[in-house]
Amino acid sequence: MNTVILNNNKILLVEDEDSLAAGLEFNLEAEGYRVARAENGRKALELLQKKDIDLVILDIMLPFLNGFEVLEKIREKSPALPVLLLSARTAQQDKIKGLSMGADDYLTKPFHLEELLLRVEGMLRRNAWYRESIDRNSEFCFSGNRVDFKDLSCESRNGSFRLTLLEGALLKYFIDHENKIVTREELLEQVWQIDSDTDTRTVENFILRLRKYFEEVPSNPVFFRNVRARGYIFTSGNQ
Ligand code: CA
Repeated sequence: MNTVILNNNKILLVEDEDSLAAGLEFNLEAEGYRVARAENGRKALELLQKKDIDLVILDIMLPFLNGFEVLEKIREKSPALPVLLLSARTAQQDKIKGLSMGADDYLTKPFHLEELLLRVEGMLRRNAWYRESIDRNSEFCFSGNRVDFKDLSCESRNGSFRLTLLEGALLKYFIDHENKIVTREELLEQVWQIDSDTDTRTVENFILRLRKYFEEVPSNPVFFRNVRARGYIFTSGNQ
């Protein structure tokens, strides 16, 4: 994992506050990343079409198209592209909305530069880990749901859709640990690959996403169940 070279990655920085954007660009480049900057949502989509981007840092409050609208467009085409949302708002519903729309992580302004760099590194490391560790030729079917790990396309009673890379990694972890209790801390360590002092509500949001995709009644899950005070257990119903 540590041998993966991350800092040649190209980051799209979407931020309309010029001084903040300039500071972030400077520091990201100092870490060795290549940076493309967009000062509004429309420009961000243009750059995404033209350039080979490895990760997006996306402000929510933007001119023309806001961050949520940009995120929606990104997810239509690139479910696997890591997206870190930035917001000046402290409203919890913004965070939940962003995560439910497919953002991989979230930072509230003002944040520490170190924290942002750690998140970026973590997201790129997860992506590299996912690409290397998951058997892309595998398919998994359970109770009328089908997941193709080659491109993370899925079919369920809720229709056809594609998982984000993190959703795919989380689902794969559950499949590999079927019928065993997995804790939130374990998921943060093994799937998110970050220290478990991070907000465990992030994990809960991703579980809600998996339920929305695959459960007949997400509020009364049969595949992705909570285990009180301990974590979660996945049961495919295949055995
Ligand atoms: Ca802004």
